Amino acid sequence: MTADKVGVRSHSIRDAMDLAAKKCGIPGWEGYRWQAMEGGSLVHGCVPSGLYTRGQRKGTPKFRPPMPGTDRVVVISDADISAEADAYETAGKCWNCKGEGKTIARISVADGTSYRECRACDGTGKPRLVPDGDAQGGR
Ligand SMILES: [Zn+2]
Repeated sequence: MTADKVGVRSHSIRDAMDLAAKKCGIPGWEGYRWQAMEGGSLVHGCVPSGLYTRGQRKGTPKFRPPMPGTDRVVVISDADISAEADAYETAGKCWNCKGEGKTIARISVADGTSYRECRACDGTGKPRLVPDGDAQGGR
């Protein structure tokens, strides 16, 4: 086994943004831009100054202008993601779907969001990886 690199857990941009909001600690803070980085990612965010009241983006947060003093970049390392994912699965929830048993298949402004069964847990919402050696085979 090579242990020189921390395994990167699969995660969505949403996961990184949610974790950034948690790490940043400012109430109401939301990520609006995600950027890949060596060893992790950067999440740019702020506390939105309100919601769009019309047009295509109606009901979505207005990040420009941000609430004064809340615009910042948060570093999310691969280790941050792994720790978050491990905490999730220790608590008995599938990290991939957040225990929902389903993941977003498609987001459409016109049709809304459609879902598909989570592939990581086959729709059970429970973590499949059992750390006590129950899992057979591997790769
Ligand atoms: Zn799942």
